[in-house]
Amino acid sequence: MAKLHAVWICLDCEEVYTDKRDPGTCPVCGSRAGWPLRRWVHPALNVRAAHIVKTRMMEAIAEEARV
Ligand SMILES: [Zn+2]
Repeated sequence: MAKLHAVWICLDCEEVYTDKRDPGTCPVCGSRAGWPLRRWVHPALNVRAAHIVKTRMMEAIAEEARV
């Protein structure tokens, strides 16, 4: 399986490929206009983590208010 940091999407032909070099080279069209998926996925993961923290804080505040 490919690791996230080596996964690219080609902005010219939409091929998803793996390449450890930076920038990667598309194996289908040879374009170097690849976008690293890690730049999109990591912020999304952080948003989810921030949401979980906020939810737990709200629960803790609600719990405190009940006492
Ligand atoms: Zn391509």
